Amino acid sequence: MKRIAHLIGGEPASSADARLGPVFNPATGEQTAELELASKQTVEKAIAKSQAAFREWSARTPINRARVMFRYKELMQANMDELAVLVSREHGKTIDDAKGSITRGIEIIEFACGIPQLLKGEYSSNVGSGVDSFNLRQALGVCAGITPFNFPAMVPLWMYPVALACGNTFILKPSEKTPSCPLRMVELAHEAGVPKDVLQVVNGDKEAVDTLLHDERVKAVSFVGSTPIAEYIYHTGTSNNKRVQALGGAKNHMIVMPDADIPRVTDALIGSAFGSAGERCMAISIAVCVGDETANNVRNSVSEAASRLNVGPYTDADSDFGPLSNEAHMNKVLSYIDKGVEEGADLVTDGRGLKLQGYEGGYYVGPCVFDNVTPEMTIYKEEIFGPVLGIVRSESYADALKLVDEHELGNGAALFTNDGGVARHFVEQSKIGMVGVNVPIPVPVAYHSFGGWKRSLFGDHHMHGPEGIRFYTKLKTATVAWPGGKKTGPEFSIPVLS
Ligand code: NAD
Repeated sequence: MKRIAHLIGGEPASSADARLGPVFNPATGEQTAELELASKQTVEKAIAKSQAAFREWSARTPINRARVMFRYKELMQANMDELAVLVSREHGKTIDDAKGSITRGIEIIEFACGIPQLLKGEYSSNVGSGVDSFNLRQALGVCAGITPFNFPAMVPLWMYPVALACGNTFILKPSEKTPSCPLRMVELAHEAGVPKDVLQVVNGDKEAVDTLLHDERVKAVSFVGSTPIAEYIYHTGTSNNKRVQALGGAKNHMIVMPDADIPRVTDALIGSAFGSAGERCMAISIAVCVGDETANNVRNSVSEAASRLNVGPYTDADSDFGPLSNEAHMNKVLSYIDKGVEEGADLVTDGRGLKLQGYEGGYYVGPCVFDNVTPEMTIYKEEIFGPVLGIVRSESYADALKLVDEHELGNGAALFTNDGGVARHFVEQSKIGMVGVNVPIPVPVAYHSFGGWKRSLFGDHHMHGPEGIRFYTKLKTATVAWPGGKKTGPEFSIPVLS
């Protein structure tokens, strides 16, 4: 059995007595590897290297770090096919979807290439007589990232390109379920010129995470995962005086107005509810239809389209979406579907009991559509993270918006309408971090920032974009007065910066 260890100081770091966790191929249910789960001592070794590397890396010019990022972007693109297979084999999503997520991650590297511009401060001349004032954004030191199973490439890339470009060093603790792509991406970063101690990977579980959260040498922690763990990470990290941004779970609503174009709504719901088997934090899992006629049209159109979807392994180019990522999660999703039936919702498309010939051990659940979901039901309140769409019937836009606003999770929400006034009200008034109008998955691009509200994000800063720069730097303000001017000899060549 293949054994996967850590990447500490650029070397695969293994210990004979390590605790081990299994890694599966969800398309077949076969175990593909065993993963070493880092001990406290292993993580401390990585932290020590990371701290020692900080001085040299942070002292480099921003343009030097940008050049490393340019090389990294090229290498990531050149290795896209290999990376996509690593994502799909351990997560289960289709190859096209894996490539899409890697591309969104590469866009963060592209953003980080602009770091000389992004680190520019503000300057005020003559704040007093002969006195100037300006500010600097300086790196924090050792930063850590803890990431979920569903985006093994994209979510780590939300974090470390920005952290490194700002001059920090970084330790990544990827999901123990999908470790191979993050390891390969970090090897490529080293090949691009990131020093080996500056970016490291420790694999593991709570022991590794808790070590990062308690060690005073770690200055900032970025987390993406489920809400209960996000809350724990935030409280533990901040009580140990760290900066923490902890993104949690989601229950994203789409409000469908009576004037919305039903074919367009149907395409949007099918892609966003069932793409990646619903294992996306920006998946739409609730369609709130305004008026019974809207709800009937959406129900008929979506259930008909759902029945035509191909569920299959990533190795089949015709698959629209793949299996759930692991057996425990599949069982959890199935128990939510049973609960929905038990609590009285109408299961109009039933994806349970799906068995694929030749892939009987895979974790497949077909698309499920529930109608007449109500806010008291478990399938309305809780995140399912599977291919399950609930239709809620609402009498008015105001009632629909109230549902969106009163849900404890506030990651994303969408509105489909042709009415500009309603759209503007929704954008301005909804209590949600990322909103879309006639866009089902309103994922911000790299140069904007990603993050939810309410119990979908603990902390003050969203990820990547301008908020990422703020999170990974601390502000210093200088007030400077000089007694006289600078005196140097003549220079005849244009100085070359390195
Ligand atoms: P998870 O919370 O189980 O795990 C996330 C990370 O935390 C993993 O690296 C894991 O090893 C670690 N972890 C798990 N239990 C821990 C514990 N008790 N103590 C310390 N660390 C622990 O999440 P997951 O199942 O990997 O991912 C799915 C969840 O992530 C969903 O809820 C989804 O909505 C969420 N998610 C959110 C976003 C977002 O941007 N808000 C993006 C992607 C995924």
